[in-house]
Amino acid sequence: MQQKTMKKRFSLRKWLFLIVLLVLVAKACNALIIPDRQIAHLREQTVPSWIDQQYITAGYKSRPGVPLQQVNDIVIHYVGNAGSSAQQNRDYFNKPTTSVSAHFVVGLQGEIIQALPLDEMSYATNWRNKDTISIEVTHPDASGQFTDASYDAVVRLTAWLLHAANLQADAVIRHYDVTGKLCPLYYVENEDAWFTLKEDIAVAYAAIS
Ligand SMILES: [Zn+2]
Repeated sequence: MQQKTMKKRFSLRKWLFLIVLLVLVAKACNALIIPDRQIAHLREQTVPSWIDQQYITAGYKSRPGVPLQQVNDIVIHYVGNAGSSAQQNRDYFNKPTTSVSAHFVVGLQGEIIQALPLDEMSYATNWRNKDTISIEVTHPDASGQFTDASYDAVVRLTAWLLHAANLQADAVIRHYDVTGKLCPLYYVENEDAWFTLKEDIAVAYAAIS
């Protein structure tokens, strides 16, 4: 009787060990194989002509060239400096003394500047820099609300990025969702506006599927 219990216990342990092993193997596959394919897919993308590539100088603190291993979300920010242009914000990133950066800056007229390659880490979203693509959006006043042109550009750019990174339509978050920072301000203070923006992105995403 005692022996039987021992046997049972042993086989239970064996099973537990096997399950843990399987989980670890699955995690390793997920961590290695799937992201590699995702990053390779990102690299293969032909960047649309409506994106103006002006990369930050390689080796600056804002572009140390750390490779992204995986992309799980697209993060929306606002620049916080009312009335500043996309060019000014991108040029600010491109200084040897600046240690922050974003992949994209969207301007007041809807212009889009890409400051970093899609497979390199940006410095905008704290501990989520390692698995996100970041978009900074300019705004005309302190409310932080985007212009119509910026809004449309954010929708178009985000939908394209979701496809480029093989993500689902809802893999879009705010800086606020990571750290609680009031960024992008207007879309934190007005949750309805945030949900509308996410819906508009989902519609644009479906349209290019
Ligand atoms: Zn932010």
